[in-house]
Amino acid sequence: MQQQRLHRVLCLTGLYLAALLGACGPMGSDRSTSDSPGGVEAPKGSVLITGVAIVEAEHDAVTAPQDILMVDGFIAQVAPAGDIDPDAANHVVAAEGLFALPGLIDVHAHIGDGGLGAQSQADREGALAQFLRYGVTTIFVPGGGGGNDDNLALWKQRCAAHELPCPRIYGSGALITAPGGHPIGTIWDLPIDIDEATVYARGAVTLAEDEAVEPLLDRKMGLGVDAIKIVIEDGPGPWYPKPRLSRDKILQLVTASHERNLQVFAHVSRTYHVEDALAAGVDGLMHSSEDPIDDSLLRQMAQRRVFFVPTLSLYDGFIDQAFGRFEQEPYAIAGVSGRALRSLEDEDFRHQPGDTEEEALAYEAILQDNLRRAVAVGVPLALGTDVNNPWVFPGYSAHKELHLMVQAGLTPAQALAAATGGGAAFLRAESTLGCLDPGCVADLLLLTHNPLTDILHSRSMYRVFQGGQIVPGVVAEQP
Ligand SMILES: [Zn+2]
Repeated sequence: MQQQRLHRVLCLTGLYLAALLGACGPMGSDRSTSDSPGGVEAPKGSVLITGVAIVEAEHDAVTAPQDILMVDGFIAQVAPAGDIDPDAANHVVAAEGLFALPGLIDVHAHIGDGGLGAQSQADREGALAQFLRYGVTTIFVPGGGGGNDDNLALWKQRCAAHELPCPRIYGSGALITAPGGHPIGTIWDLPIDIDEATVYARGAVTLAEDEAVEPLLDRKMGLGVDAIKIVIEDGPGPWYPKPRLSRDKILQLVTASHERNLQVFAHVSRTYHVEDALAAGVDGLMHSSEDPIDDSLLRQMAQRRVFFVPTLSLYDGFIDQAFGRFEQEPYAIAGVSGRALRSLEDEDFRHQPGDTEEEALAYEAILQDNLRRAVAVGVPLALGTDVNNPWVFPGYSAHKELHLMVQAGLTPAQALAAATGGGAAFLRAESTLGCLDPGCVADLLLLTHNPLTDILHSRSMYRVFQGGQIVPGVVAEQP
């Protein structure tokens, strides 16, 4: 019975789809001059989605069937099924039996394909399209991966002009670190006296102890960054000890950023980094800690509404890399860049010595426990994956992160809330992003299965809309 009804819906919607694609053309054929979140301009036109159950992750509930009217890229009206006149819309999408979820938000996403080795401009553009095809409609780019202030501005501009398919882009521009510090002297393997132009091209900028923070921040503001990313790190692991920003410098950066109404998000990897970050008043942690975070620190985060972005996908990728595991997951293989997948089969990067299965499990257990305890005391969560680290693929990794969060002990509703409303609050854009109310941007997923009953249902995408337009080539997996 259920199957029959679903089949009918799919057929009906298929008919409308042909009309919709024909009328709208490729994404962005229609332009407007209005400002909208993430620099994506709203296309003109209206679409009515009928009879869809809306997933309310924050209430762990789905609504009775609703009609959603999307006009000029925004949600204009939501009403019980049957209440909105289909003549009010240019197009109708029959979605009886389906579930609507706001588009996914990944707040730790470098622009790259998640494979090893150098990436071309085409690889980066492919990464942007791949986010959308997996239903990630908004990203925050925290420097690195070529994401300096100028490139961030350029990507935003090209995406806003619809030159290429991309999610809404927010970002920090170049991340701020100490000369020779992480990631310059660590994963990038550059000498401490490397010239600033090379560092900047890679997506970082250094700040020496005797340098003033104001000119740097003013320059970043001039190029339109949305927030500041700082690196509080004297390792990580194998590279310890490396130079890092002093506590005094961190405090100066946070104070001057807040005076400019810019949030500050911090890279951390150990509990003593978390302590320094909180002491300076940062607004979010871009990773977990590889050792247990004290409950007292977690309570501080909850009280002061400091966001936690656990990036479980990153750590899971480290483990895959240590054990030389090729990507086997069909849902990844179905949509991830072939270059990225092939590059990970490079023999040189496999079987790192000193890692045992037991050590990997113990490592994972700490990260899971940090997340569980953070949620238990009410720390605000946003989903972030650290895309473009090895095995952390654009878009796919958001679904993997949801699954890893649930494996760590969260409910599907908690994980989905982090991926939607949580990400929007992290970006201070909760009135327009991560929501399906009138006034919100029309970024949404139509799913064939309820993701609150099984988190893997986030993959059962039937359609993805960004700014009210259908995203072509969505990567879906039906249970
Ligand atoms: Zn990162």
